[in-house]
Amino acid sequence: MKKRFLIALFVVALVFQFTGCEKDTSAQNTGLVQGKGQAKYVFLFVADGMAPSQFNATEYYLASKDNVTNYNINRLNFTQFPVAGLTNTHDYGSLITDSASAGTAFASGRKTLSSMINVDPRDGRTPYKSIAEYAQEAGMKIGIVSTVTLTHATPAAFYGKTANRNNTEGSDTEPVGLAQQLVESGFDYFAGGWIVPNSTNNDKHLDTARRLGYTVTRTPAAFNALNRNSGKVIALAERVQDSGAMHYEIDRRSTDLSLVDFTRKGIELLDNPNGFFMMVEAGKIDWAGHANDAGALIHDMLIFDKALELAIDFYNRHPKETLIVVIGDHETGGMGVGWAGTAGIPSESGVSANLGMGYSMYFDKIAKQTRSYVAFDEEIINPYRERVTNPSQRRIEDLYSDILESFGIDLRPASLNVSEFQRNQIEIAFRRSMEQPVETPDEGWRVFHGSYEPLSVKLTQVMNQSAGIGWTSYSHTATPVASFAYGIHQEIFGGYYDNTDIFFKLASAMNFKVD
Ligand SMILES: [Zn+2]
Repeated sequence: MKKRFLIALFVVALVFQFTGCEKDTSAQNTGLVQGKGQAKYVFLFVADGMAPSQFNATEYYLASKDNVTNYNINRLNFTQFPVAGLTNTHDYGSLITDSASAGTAFASGRKTLSSMINVDPRDGRTPYKSIAEYAQEAGMKIGIVSTVTLTHATPAAFYGKTANRNNTEGSDTEPVGLAQQLVESGFDYFAGGWIVPNSTNNDKHLDTARRLGYTVTRTPAAFNALNRNSGKVIALAERVQDSGAMHYEIDRRSTDLSLVDFTRKGIELLDNPNGFFMMVEAGKIDWAGHANDAGALIHDMLIFDKALELAIDFYNRHPKETLIVVIGDHETGGMGVGWAGTAGIPSESGVSANLGMGYSMYFDKIAKQTRSYVAFDEEIINPYRERVTNPSQRRIEDLYSDILESFGIDLRPASLNVSEFQRNQIEIAFRRSMEQPVETPDEGWRVFHGSYEPLSVKLTQVMNQSAGIGWTSYSHTATPVASFAYGIHQEIFGGYYDNTDIFFKLASAMNFKVD
């Protein structure tokens, strides 16, 4: 008996040696489960674009709301989890990952190229199986929730396979696009933004979904009426903001469904004796990071953390069988908590700047923001362009009150609210937004405002800098992200490891045998 066991071990070792291991060699800490028990109810909360700066800024913001001179942090729910880890995020072809290769890494445990989802980077075709597909095979119910479109990279990483993340509709080389893959996934609950940004195509995919047996809801009333007899569900936000995504939390009306609503209903519908795997993504933390809009980012962080409370409540009812994991997929924007020029900026809060250049922060300024950069584009800049059609008649003075109301930036001549340097930056941005034809984009242009509306991005940057937040990029960065865990087998998520290890840790906690 013993001898046979040893021979078997030897064969396994040989096979392992000769088949090689495609997994990244830097992934050494798969932290497999030692103890007994299986994670039966698994929540994976993904904050797209979140690294320590993003949650740390949110915690400073909360503290500053209590007291502007409160040099402290108010902790979020997930930063109080008992286990924290750090994860590096490079992909198969770059130190800076995109959300497609990042999603593939934690959903399927493999490195691939940016823009690819769950396919081998060497042929763009050989599929990888996701943790949600393993869970589905094991008889668990599957829920996918996102504030952005449901075919966006992060949600798609749990059901999709494609060499091109933008292939939602099918192409010559890949006839079955991500939207069709979604409705054919058989997953139990999809909720959040539209399936795809295009309204006509979105309707078409929902028709297919209904034919395949999904209950589809598009209004809060229909959504609230869903119950455990509703079968498989696709629940969409009634109003969408940009590219088929839900509104930024800062712009959401009280009558709009929120990430909290979609999470609560998901738990209600997915709860069953065979367990569930539920992914909840706050996708616009990333979008706000791309646009350098800390106010929009922080409010989306807060609703993400609020949705997490529902998972914690569920854990409290099933503590021996529930695992909650919170991760970021990569950092976005090169967000820094601290900015070189902050000490030189006057602050009406009266907080002393005598700590020296760049050591001061005024997070109370962020509380004055009432709109995201997108809402400012749509509600202020575009209507102004339509109202004053002749570019030579457009004056920044016309927007002073809107800018003050939206971002707390007072540009009136007597105001001490902004420095001369900042005022000049805003005026340059205004001219770029309003004068036509615009200059040809060059390097300076890209650094100044990326691909965004110049005035909006400059206003958020100036307000952020006054508060003490600096940005280095309009893209992702390679800085490590954090992971947090609470519940059964939480301990395996500690340490500094590769993003592909998230998949192996989840599989181990759920007791799945994976390649
Ligand atoms: Zn991402």
